[in-house]
Amino acid sequence: MEVKVDQIEKRSWVEVDLGQIEKNYNMYKASLPKDVDIMAVIKADAYGHGDVKVATLLSSLGVKLFAVSNIDEAVGLRNAGINGEILILGYSSPIYARTLYYLGLTQAIVSEEYALALAKTGYEIKCQFAVDTGMNRIGILSGDAEEAASIIREYSTKLNVTGIFTHLCVADGSNEDDRNFTLDQLQRFKAVVDKIDCLHLPYIHCYNSAGGLYHLTDNSLNQSIGNIVRLGIALYGLKPDRDNKLPEGIKPAMAWKSVISRVQKLPEGATVSYGRTFTTKRPSLIATVTTGYADGYNRHLSNRGFVMIKGHKAPIVGRICMDQTMVDVTDIPGVKMSDVVVLMGECGNQNYTADDMAADLDTIGYEVICNISKRVQRFYPKTVIRKNK
Ligand SMILES: *Cc1c(COP(=O)(O)O)cnc(C)c1O
Repeated sequence: MEVKVDQIEKRSWVEVDLGQIEKNYNMYKASLPKDVDIMAVIKADAYGHGDVKVATLLSSLGVKLFAVSNIDEAVGLRNAGINGEILILGYSSPIYARTLYYLGLTQAIVSEEYALALAKTGYEIKCQFAVDTGMNRIGILSGDAEEAASIIREYSTKLNVTGIFTHLCVADGSNEDDRNFTLDQLQRFKAVVDKIDCLHLPYIHCYNSAGGLYHLTDNSLNQSIGNIVRLGIALYGLKPDRDNKLPEGIKPAMAWKSVISRVQKLPEGATVSYGRTFTTKRPSLIATVTTGYADGYNRHLSNRGFVMIKGHKAPIVGRICMDQTMVDVTDIPGVKMSDVVVLMGECGNQNYTADDMAADLDTIGYEVICNISKRVQRFYPKTVIRKNK
């Protein structure tokens, strides 16, 4: 039986609005020059949104390029029938060469040593060279463009090299220093790209969400480099950085919900939860919410954060436990067992996004959504099927 969103009642769950992901994709795409392709970054289970669902949606919209973080994610997508290019952005042990080859996966080359190790396996693996232009994480160094280019040319006869890419580390920065560093990275990358022109590699890319928005059409470089944006965070409707602005209409696609298991009257002076860090200052109504830090609900929100119930904010009182959290509902009329609680998302006139939670936690939205744990079931309203009843 198909159930409506407001009938979902789990312990802790996430609702993903695939329609909003589609809108975000379209809005973002509209902000790019026409000839720029999008590689959808769906690593970490599509930033917690469900990689197969997101990839299937995007495939239906014509996306043919995907990026993941590791071979297990890539295999999962292939097995789920995702065709297209799947680029593994990080290291895969050479012992998996056979899998890479037979599933037609594309492996990022993280160093010259790694290229050699993959070539030695004897499988002509599809791969793309990472070029390190200043992130100092992975890739062959770009300091000497000719040297970098000669490595790529050399391995293009041993492996199936289909592209090169670099990663920008301050594309989301708004000050002059950040901008100059990004321009420097782009110039270093371009120098290598120019020297491997003869290889006619189909995939040349350097922009993440922020890079695509703020640097791709930056005229100070006189031309854009490559023609692909690796689109991650903006697809999910969040900002790369607190100070960034996203194109109009891009919104978060995720809401995180839970329910109330108990509502209890407590007298003034009662303490709540481990460590007794909260004491009621008046006779209070304390509700227990069935989500805790094992669900990825950050314990630093203890005594600081809030949840939303019936359009009202209910402050978190005492320490967040592994599976449960207590909130003060004294001022919210009629709260009872089974009421739905919104941890993140819209609730009445309230709207608390992963970016808002990230600001409260002094981190980034990326971490907030990636940390929502596996046991928090993902739902896709409209396609929710409940077996019994
Ligand atoms: C994660 C990642 C991206 C996506 O970055 P967003 O900021 O989420 O758009 C792009 N490229 C690489 C190499 C990445 O690791």
